[in-house]
Amino acid sequence: MKNFLLILPLLALLALSQEDSRYLQARNRMVNSQIAARGITDPATLRAMERVPRHLFVPASFASEAYSDRPLPIGYSQTISQPFIVAYMTELARPAKGKKALEIGTGSGYQAAVLAEIVDTVYTIEIVPELARESEARLKMLGYRNIVNRYGDGYSGWPERAPFDIIIVTAAADHIPEPLKKQLAEGGRLVMPVGDPATVQQLIVLTKRKGKITEQRLEPVRFVPLRRLK
Ligand code: SAH
Repeated sequence: MKNFLLILPLLALLALSQEDSRYLQARNRMVNSQIAARGITDPATLRAMERVPRHLFVPASFASEAYSDRPLPIGYSQTISQPFIVAYMTELARPAKGKKALEIGTGSGYQAAVLAEIVDTVYTIEIVPELARESEARLKMLGYRNIVNRYGDGYSGWPERAPFDIIIVTAAADHIPEPLKKQLAEGGRLVMPVGDPATVQQLIVLTKRKGKITEQRLEPVRFVPLRRLK
């Protein structure tokens, strides 16, 4: 009996680590077949996608689908983006050590975690209070000390912490908010889906050089709408 009691926690640990290794395998497969195979080459982005446990950012009932090639619901009518889109937006933002990033639309916190694996600090804003609370708790639990969460309307950015080398907006609008352009650092890059929030948008990259902003238009994408606090 005594031996049996000793063995129980060991069995539980074994089961847990087997589960972890299954998710790890699924994650490696995701990076190879959905991300590297489709042209993402930035080593830092690939490494970050390999490290962040995406199955812990989706509702438990969707954990087994966490590494599949699609967005998933995260409650409150919001979604976590498809893995490829997260990797693509991350690579487009040119993340690197020493940089400071702002994300609008924390959602589950997944994109913030991917960025935080690479850059020095990520500031992230979420407009749904429950999601803001849940994602902050999740990121703390996972040990991300370089992410600063805030509840509110990200349209106006975070002027007290500006300028940002990277701004990623993960919700769609028909224009890029003027305050975000202002808060972009010299040499900084802003990535955002712009177009009809109800249908399809285009991924836009803004670059600021010598105070001048240039725009690059990329792939068609579908994001949930950027909302405003009344
Ligand atoms: N980046 C998220 C997914 C984004 S879904 C992730 O990795 O899981 C888009 C998110 O933007 C939703 O959670 C939505 O509530 C939020 N959002 C919409 N409008 C916003 C605004 N004005 N300010 C901040 N967050 C906003």
